[in-house]
Amino acid sequence: MENLRLVILGRQGSGKGTQCMRLSESYGTIHISTGDILRAAVETQTELGKKAKLIMDAGDLVPDEIINGIVAERIEMKDVLENGFILDGYPRTSAQAQALEGELLSKGLSLDLAINLEVPVDEVTQRMLDRSRADDTEEAITRRLEIYENETAPLLKWFEERNNLVVVDGLGTEDKVFSRLQNVVNGVINGK
Ligand code: ADP
Repeated sequence: MENLRLVILGRQGSGKGTQCMRLSESYGTIHISTGDILRAAVETQTELGKKAKLIMDAGDLVPDEIINGIVAERIEMKDVLENGFILDGYPRTSAQAQALEGELLSKGLSLDLAINLEVPVDEVTQRMLDRSRADDTEEAITRRLEIYENETAPLLKWFEERNNLVVVDGLGTEDKVFSRLQNVVNGVINGK
């Protein structure tokens, strides 16, 4: 089993969630989805969930301090320390990217790779309208994509500058995209 530490970036609707689950199954790495963590908190109506619900429904981002705390706690749990992680939906802002870097550094760890699952805006908009998740109203979708371009897309450059970014084409069948991702991840493993 490989102790991989990966970040998957990509627009909403790029298929990140599904692909991360498959990667997690196939490599034994822990899938950490901040969206799933928040949705679970909303579901069980914890304090966090109550705060997050309105923000998520509007398509806005939950404040950095809250998300940074959640991820910092999760990545120091035993299962993640032992098996590595695939971060899905985090980091999304430069403050989050810096926090992650600091967290890992303080544990003597580093990121193996950030992967950008590239799917054009028109395609992801259509996919999101088709999947009809509760927070996928047309306004919220537009808002989320706008935030992605403004806040998250600049992170691609950030990881690129650290020689830590690979772009994977997210168009095509789920299996095809998965095999592209496997090629990249196998490359990381062989280079370790
Ligand atoms: P999507 O990629 O469609 O936005 P996610 O499941 O990743 O779906 O996230 C759902 C919502 O949860 C986001 O719209 C946002 O409100 C919140 N969220 C998830 N991850 C983060 C994060 N890293 N920072 C701030 N808010 C987040």
